[in-house]
Amino acid sequence: MDAFHQPGAPRIIALMNQKGGVGKTTTTVNLAAALAKQGLRTLMVDLDPQAHATLHLGIDPTALDGSIYDVLHEPETEIHRAIVESRQNLWVLPAETDLAGVENDLRDAPDRNQRLQKALNAVRDRFDVVMLDCPPALGLLTLNALTAADSVLIPMQAHYLALQGVSKLLETVQLVRQSLNASLSVEGVILCMHEMQTTLAQEVVADLEDFFQAAKGTDVPWSSARLLRPAVRRNIKLAECPSFGQTIFEYAPSAAGAADYEALARNLTGAPEHSTQQQPPATEPAQNVEPRPQHELESEAASQAQVEPKPQVPQPSSWVDDSPYGYPT
Ligand code: ADP
Ligand code: MG
Repeated sequence: MDAFHQPGAPRIIALMNQKGGVGKTTTTVNLAAALAKQGLRTLMVDLDPQAHATLHLGIDPTALDGSIYDVLHEPETEIHRAIVESRQNLWVLPAETDLAGVENDLRDAPDRNQRLQKALNAVRDRFDVVMLDCPPALGLLTLNALTAADSVLIPMQAHYLALQGVSKLLETVQLVRQSLNASLSVEGVILCMHEMQTTLAQEVVADLEDFFQAAKGTDVPWSSARLLRPAVRRNIKLAECPSFGQTIFEYAPSAAGAADYEALARNLTGAPEHSTQQQPPATEPAQNVEPRPQHELESEAASQAQVEPKPQVPQPSSWVDDSPYGYPT
């Protein structure tokens, strides 16, 4: 039995990078969708006050019975109300914009970093895997994610100084392991918006491989980390699908982005190429929320809470899809 099929113990993965715009949310949503397609009972938790992952799945953050905000205040009770059934095998613990206030609300609570862990414990029988979409900051929300998680996945872009950012992040994981979660490990790095033909990208790939190789056999949290394959190619469909409240598998199932996230999910779980979908399990009833176009939801959310609008993706002149591997293997 592998780590994704332990009865009563979901594999909890935090997708973390303190930098914004690197592909955390895109990866959390589409990887979660790919794992659900594999038949794993998947819960996606939106820990970002911008609620982009919630919106990406077509859920209206202003029309919820409960959200991660309530769960962090009353973990054991609110978790049951807040989880939304979104797709077959895919459940969501959504965010709403008042989440930003939680940092202040819980400032003096001695168990403030253990709230998510307590909540997920209360639903551990319902899921095989839990994906945590972290905000781009190391505050209470990310600390809750790292305390609850078994492992960390780092979405990043192969940019200049990318490695410096990763080593900072790994130091943070090390500190959390020493203080809050002794069993936390780093699963690996996922390269997002990858353009393998550039020399820089190839250099970053080589540096990352060397870095992880050097850590093998040591007792750092990244001693079994790997550069996950394939890299996710830059693909305009991935940037378009959130506006429709759809995953890449719904919006453009034959796009490179769908192939990449599907292959990544298989690599993560070790599933065979054409795994069959399981029937949804019998679980307690969850609310059904009608998907709505994201641009509608986002403008509502923005007008209510002055959230930053989602960054526009720059469109490079050479917007081409690379080899299926994303980088030399
Ligand atoms: P983060 O959550 O780290 O801030 P996002 O996942 O929101 O990052 O991605 C930042 C922007 O890049 C979004 O507009 C997203 O749609 C876009 N994007 C992410 N991955 C890709 C990709 N592989 N190809 C093209 N655009 C992408
Ligand atoms: Mg995000």
